[in-house]
Amino acid sequence: MANASNFFDVIVIGGGHAGCESAIAAHNLGARTALVTFSSQNVGVLSCNPAFGGVGKGHIVCEIDALNGGMGMVADKASLQYRLLNRSRGPAVRGPRAQVDRAIYAREMQKLIHQSGNIEVIAGEVEDLLIEYDTDAGKEQCKGVVLKGGVRLTAHAVVLTTGTFLGGLIFRGDIRTEAGRVGEKSATRLKDNLLQRGMATIRLKTGTPPRLRADSIDFAKFQKQPGDVEPTFFSPLTEGRNELAARQLHCHIAHTNGETKQIVEDNLERSALYGGEIEGVGPRYCPSIEDKIRRFHTKEVHQVFLEPEGFDSNLIYPNGLSTSLPSDVQKAFINSMAGLEKAEIDTPGYAVEYSAFDPRQLHPTLESKQVQRLLLAGQINGTTGYEEAGGQGVIAGINAAKLARNEELFVPDASESYIGVMIRDLTTKGVDEPYRMFTSRAEHRLKLRIDNVAERMVPQAFALGLIHSQDKRWLWFAQHEKQVQAAVVMLNHKPGKKTPSNPQPGEASREVEKDTTLGEFAKRCRFDRDEIIARFPYTAEWTGDVFQRVMSEALYDGYEKRYTQQLEKAQAAEGLKLKDFADTLGETQFATISHEAKEKLLKYKPKTVRDAMEIPGLTPHVIATLVAHAVERTQ
Ligand code: FAD
Repeated sequence: MANASNFFDVIVIGGGHAGCESAIAAHNLGARTALVTFSSQNVGVLSCNPAFGGVGKGHIVCEIDALNGGMGMVADKASLQYRLLNRSRGPAVRGPRAQVDRAIYAREMQKLIHQSGNIEVIAGEVEDLLIEYDTDAGKEQCKGVVLKGGVRLTAHAVVLTTGTFLGGLIFRGDIRTEAGRVGEKSATRLKDNLLQRGMATIRLKTGTPPRLRADSIDFAKFQKQPGDVEPTFFSPLTEGRNELAARQLHCHIAHTNGETKQIVEDNLERSALYGGEIEGVGPRYCPSIEDKIRRFHTKEVHQVFLEPEGFDSNLIYPNGLSTSLPSDVQKAFINSMAGLEKAEIDTPGYAVEYSAFDPRQLHPTLESKQVQRLLLAGQINGTTGYEEAGGQGVIAGINAAKLARNEELFVPDASESYIGVMIRDLTTKGVDEPYRMFTSRAEHRLKLRIDNVAERMVPQAFALGLIHSQDKRWLWFAQHEKQVQAAVVMLNHKPGKKTPSNPQPGEASREVEKDTTLGEFAKRCRFDRDEIIARFPYTAEWTGDVFQRVMSEALYDGYEKRYTQQLEKAQAAEGLKLKDFADTLGETQFATISHEAKEKLLKYKPKTVRDAMEIPGLTPHVIATLVAHAVERTQ
């Protein structure tokens, strides 16, 4: 029976990363929110690796943070090691990554949700959705959920974020168990009920490696991998930075060898992946050890990163050894590696197969086209990764709260954020394998940087009502932008006097003429901070964040215009016919197209540029290359 205590503005189903961010965003907009999940203890649990971020994924974490989400600050609080990936490349494609303490992450996320005071966590299983036909709208509408045992909760909008749990099956060799994650049941009733409503599903799979006991590993045999001395934090609001930087732990790098390869090869038919047990498509970029050994047959050695699961944990996550081989084979191949001869397995690895929905059934607001007031976010939309799930979660949470208030819904723009790129890709192209973010997916990737994420997103958060004028984030942003604007102006500053330099042999002169601007000199000295301070001393006062932002402005000045022109050219070519390029893909003009893109072109055989644009996973660069070399010219 409905009563005042089981009516909410928004109900979120699932306490994973999509669910947590949905609930936080809805709460930020003042919605009374219920977070219904199997177990309240498992809110914010990391299903697989104890790490956040990376290239593209790190951008999403920073965007979630700028929209006042939880992931960035909580990951910083739980961090045990930071590394900025792609450090030697341009600032646009550098990706912050942090190893985290698994237990601290879940605890801090639960604390954040509890402290909101407006999110009620309800432990229970959702078995069905309450859906009614609305004659005025001429459509079905979601009015709430039905829990196991029959209790009904009603709401203005419902967000579904059930991750790998819908019809989840886990596999280890020939052992197959109904579960969404090891030790946790799968959501079979909900899956059956949703299927009966005619929602189109796809089967996908993913996997995880065995967890090893740290005290059984000989760490002296590995190369150490330390964290960055100056970490790149996800959130500008993170406090206690010196302590976080000082407490970092090492990771270690191990290697597979010929014996490891032989053991895996000899047992391939015992793997659930190769024994024909699993039908679902897996994530290309997180291959299992079976996949790696099959696909890269000539390679004997694969790197394995040994990542600590926490400060007080005796567990190590061997990143790179995801597997669905039986436990005895896992033990044998682990013990074949130097330093792991005596390693003991705490929990064996496994693969999980689950149902996801075709995201083309959603509007770009993440609301279902078929059932109004029902929104979907996370792995259920065919993505993989905590960050992708969290990014969708924020948008679904915002729009659920807006539906509750009958306000206009929000569509993130692909030219403004990676979250916008992801939602555009999912809802227009769908997925043919689990979708993960790469910077190459964004047309405007030089604009979508970590250093300008606040400028791109915080004003949006303010306009949407996620933050207010007295909030810490808005006060920080106002101050930060003032400093940035004042500093950017200085890019045109000329020192007014000549400063000599003594270049090393082979180095360009770093002499500063009296009319050399700061921007010109910064490019010439490759943005070397010490050199810049020596010639333009006032820059010493800029914080690291302000310095980075100003230098990116200098570096990318003019690029964005060129990019936009290229894009307009591709869009103008949309209707043009493509030549039959099946036999020419090996030629030099296509040399910069990835192997994956070539496979997709051969599979989908696009006839026009528009057809190619609709292929899931084809990047803007591939489209531009087709426009340049494969359109049928009439003259
Ligand atoms: P989840 O984190 O799965 O959360 C789903 C939530 O929904 C859970 O809290 C669950 O209790 C709840 N729930 C489900 N059904 C119901 C119901 N009917 N009623 C109430 N509550 C319900 N990602 C990578 O990027 N790289 C990897 O290598 C990788 N490996 C993985 C390996 C495994 C074994 C698993 C399980 C996942 C892996 N992932 C990997 C994916 C990553 O964990 C997910 O992308 C991410 O957790 C998805 O977040 P989510 O919020 O969508 O779902």
